[in-house]
Amino acid sequence: MPERLYYSDSFLTSFDAVITDIRLVSRTGSDSLWQVALDRSAFYPTSGGQPFDKGSLTATSRTGTVLKVPIDEVEEDEQGEVWHLTSKPLVAGTSVKAAIDWKRRLDHMQQHSGQHLLSAIFSRELGAHTVSFHLGDESSTIDLHHTASIAHASLERVERLANEIIAQDRPLFIRTVTRAEAEALLAAGQLRKLPERDGEIRLIEIEGVDLNACGGTHVRSTGQIGGLMLRTTEKVRQGLRVEFVCGVRAVAAARRDFRALTSAAGALSVATSQLPQSIERLLAESKHAAKERQKLREEVARYEASELLAATPTQDGFGIVRKQFADRDADSVKLLASKLAAGSRTIALLASTQQEPASIVFARTAEARFSCGELMKSALADLSLRGGGSATMAQGQVPCGAVDALFDKLAAGAVAAETPHP
Ligand SMILES: [Zn+2]
Repeated sequence: MPERLYYSDSFLTSFDAVITDIRLVSRTGSDSLWQVALDRSAFYPTSGGQPFDKGSLTATSRTGTVLKVPIDEVEEDEQGEVWHLTSKPLVAGTSVKAAIDWKRRLDHMQQHSGQHLLSAIFSRELGAHTVSFHLGDESSTIDLHHTASIAHASLERVERLANEIIAQDRPLFIRTVTRAEAEALLAAGQLRKLPERDGEIRLIEIEGVDLNACGGTHVRSTGQIGGLMLRTTEKVRQGLRVEFVCGVRAVAAARRDFRALTSAAGALSVATSQLPQSIERLLAESKHAAKERQKLREEVARYEASELLAATPTQDGFGIVRKQFADRDADSVKLLASKLAAGSRTIALLASTQQEPASIVFARTAEARFSCGELMKSALADLSLRGGGSATMAQGQVPCGAVDALFDKLAAGAVAAETPHP
């Protein structure tokens, strides 16, 4: 098993090592994936909620040829071996110079140390214990064993307390104890959490704030966390999920928010502080305008219906209004049909041919006996199409070219049903 250099020094960014094993994991076309084991490694493998490090291995041959291979992922297996994944093969026994992607590592350290601090404060202030931690690409989350939601004011207080401790720049200490010692600390209430595993236990202490068992990489003092910002909260199965960002991520998140706010404020020509009130006012205005628009649409439809009725000759005691609209949507055609059907002795056959297929509305006034729904259903069934509705109004869809034929069929069906039998 390799010596894990990050256990004693999270700030080690380069080291010398010897390749002890190399295995081909997969091959797709000309792409191969290899896993490399080293005698010692400062690369952190994905574990305990913290993602893997990236970096490179550089080998120099006896003839002076330099080969640098990128390390794209690092994982550990159940036996405790650390595997460095790369797309280029190296030879076992080769000495290499390894380099860690420090920007990525420092980011992970800021989030992870920030998580310990945040979990300690949630536990101390609200009795909410951390069940799990996830460090994602953009933000991190902790799941709290807490069934109720946490008031906004409490979240702001936790955030403020965390940032006060960050500003105090308290040191972080790392030490290793036996399982028995760790259990004694847990029993005494001094240790926040202890994983179920044998052997030595690595403890991370934030001076005067937190003591927790952890195998991750951490900053040297709270100041290096660089600031902490709480984001969203969400109910999850095991409790409450709290999203947070630390350090450079917190600045990036605040910058993103500020950009979105200033752009929205600019569009409305108001100050960012006035945005909530401005948006509320706009929503109220738009709701009022929508109501007014609907009222006008109804009025226009009523007026148009009476015009159409006046121009429609009566046939077998009924006025049959047949019309296709290429410039109206299905809703406005339906509204017009409903106004026509509110009159007397009228049958409406209207279509919106704005898009393919056409939307058909078939409606009638109360005194007719036939059922629009039944007639529509059977006429469409003849075309292997589906549609239907109530006795007084039905809808369906047919290809635009078939609208006339359908209207003929529906009108004939309606007239036949209304003609008294001898
Ligand atoms: Zn940890």
